[in-house]
Amino acid sequence: MSMSAASPVVAKHGALRPLGIGAVTLDPGSFWGGRQDLVSSTSLAHIRKWLGRMGWIRNFEENGRDASERGAEFSDSEVYKYLEALCWNQARTPDERAEAEIADITSLLERKQQPDGYVNTAFGGVGQRPRYSDLAFGHELYCAGHLLQACVARGRTTGLSDPLVRLGVRVADHLCEAFGPNGIAGICGHPEVEMALVEFGRLTGSSRYIEQAALFIERRGHRTLPRSYRGWSYFSDDVPVRDSVVMHGHAVRALYLDCGAIDVAAENGDTQLLAALELRWLATQQRRTYVTGGMGSRHLDEGFGEDFALPPDRAYSETCAGVASVMLSWRLLLATGEVLYADAIERALFNVVAAGYGEDGASFFYANTLHQRSLTNLVGKDAEELDFGGSNVRAPWYDVSCCFTNVARLFASLTAYVATTTATGVQVHQFFPGTVATILGGENIRISILGQYPQCGPVRIRIDECPETVWTLSLRVPSWAAGARLSFGDETRDLPPGYVTTTARFRAGDELELTLQMEPRWTDADPRVDAVRGCRAVEAGPLVLCAEFLQSDAVHHDTFRIPAGAIPIAREGSVGLDVELVEFDGPAVHVVGQTAIELIPYHHWASRGPSTMRVWMPVSDGVPVD
Ligand SMILES: [Zn+2]
Repeated sequence: MSMSAASPVVAKHGALRPLGIGAVTLDPGSFWGGRQDLVSSTSLAHIRKWLGRMGWIRNFEENGRDASERGAEFSDSEVYKYLEALCWNQARTPDERAEAEIADITSLLERKQQPDGYVNTAFGGVGQRPRYSDLAFGHELYCAGHLLQACVARGRTTGLSDPLVRLGVRVADHLCEAFGPNGIAGICGHPEVEMALVEFGRLTGSSRYIEQAALFIERRGHRTLPRSYRGWSYFSDDVPVRDSVVMHGHAVRALYLDCGAIDVAAENGDTQLLAALELRWLATQQRRTYVTGGMGSRHLDEGFGEDFALPPDRAYSETCAGVASVMLSWRLLLATGEVLYADAIERALFNVVAAGYGEDGASFFYANTLHQRSLTNLVGKDAEELDFGGSNVRAPWYDVSCCFTNVARLFASLTAYVATTTATGVQVHQFFPGTVATILGGENIRISILGQYPQCGPVRIRIDECPETVWTLSLRVPSWAAGARLSFGDETRDLPPGYVTTTARFRAGDELELTLQMEPRWTDADPRVDAVRGCRAVEAGPLVLCAEFLQSDAVHHDTFRIPAGAIPIAREGSVGLDVELVEFDGPAVHVVGQTAIELIPYHHWASRGPSTMRVWMPVSDGVPVD
């Protein structure tokens, strides 16, 4: 039953075939390669320190725990996401101490696991609530799902005989017994176990787990969870998965649920379910997603707002929702091969996800506002005092620290999102500088992605090794890249957005050059987004930019206007914009001078100390811009 290291796990049905975690290597100094190294060198140890400090690993050591002292019901999941990140990272940069850590945690889990496979530190022990007595808020299935995903990471990188995978089999078998056709006819308040069961079923070749996931998907939306003060939509239990037309309720829950539903559809060839999910994704992207790719505009329930309710200064836009949206778009990309999903992955990664992760590798945002109005300085406060709903400093940890472990596992496995294959070719979806090594028709293919993307163009694709037969290389032309061109040999083509394909008998050393317009450009919101009417944003390549102001700056987030005809100009490392300084006199706005401001990538904001910031910038009243 042994697998080759870092094997991909492929769905039964799908347009594209994913690559193994080790097939792509990112350049160390590049945007994402650098972040992968930072996770490896800093973030994993940082997470370990905090898991220890919070007592969340110690919860596994003893028989029972005091929930009030040792974290919320879902704190086990942070240990599992850390474990998953460790496992993925081992495939990239093997390390003896990390290997020992994985073995240690596996032993802890083995000792905690009950004879029937159940593992959880908050339920079922002496003095604790009984198992599955609080499906709405207990997060037991959610935690089991994250444990299974850690097992998948381990299984895909070391093989099925690993003790962690064997432990996972007992967990998954228990879930099928407890919640199968003859078990509890229930679901978890927080979806997650659905995709985990499918992934684990694919890994182990067990259709039973996939059938259980399908059962969970079909059970949801029938209001079987107890009614809560947040309503059934909070649990995505108000409308059946096949009938919901747009994402609503708690954003991360809704996104995780759809990930599991796509996994089920891809296994069962369920085109009706897939079609419903595609339509829901599109409606959500068009009406309920921030320009940063962020999702969720309501703090009250961490949820999606109504259509076009996207206030920048009240964006919740949880980092986890950004991570989940990448997972969701990736599944749809594999299932359909449609470019819009790869575009969405790029937007979310470079903006909301990158912003959520501190450049020191040891801090993060939980919520990702698009407009920070105050200079509140929270540096130095304890984790317990920090408001995860929004501030202008990234925190080292929060009581609820789902986002940091989520980003760590995503970044540790980020190479999986770069390229795919079909029977006849290779598709490059993301231009992360690095190399792609895979097999086509039994022969090796190696491709280098060269350049400084996203800092500047062009993207160069060099064929280092390939079969002597004719095959097709597909490159994504992003939806934002008007006027793109591809040069290969003597030929240069003007390209519309979408995949550009080159079918040829390539030779080692061949190079293709994709020129994308990386110059800053204006972006306007859908006119129905009332909260940013009269404002414009600037993007450059895949990056959303923002205007950031330190206390010492002469301009502030609310004292400038963009005059007619203003053009954002690229400079070294930033973008300059001429603006009008304004003062207010009741409803009147008076222009009192001119100055230039600097725009920086949104993901980089709050890296220089307390600041105010805005993505959507006001234009001069009554003056048409352009
Ligand atoms: Zn989170």
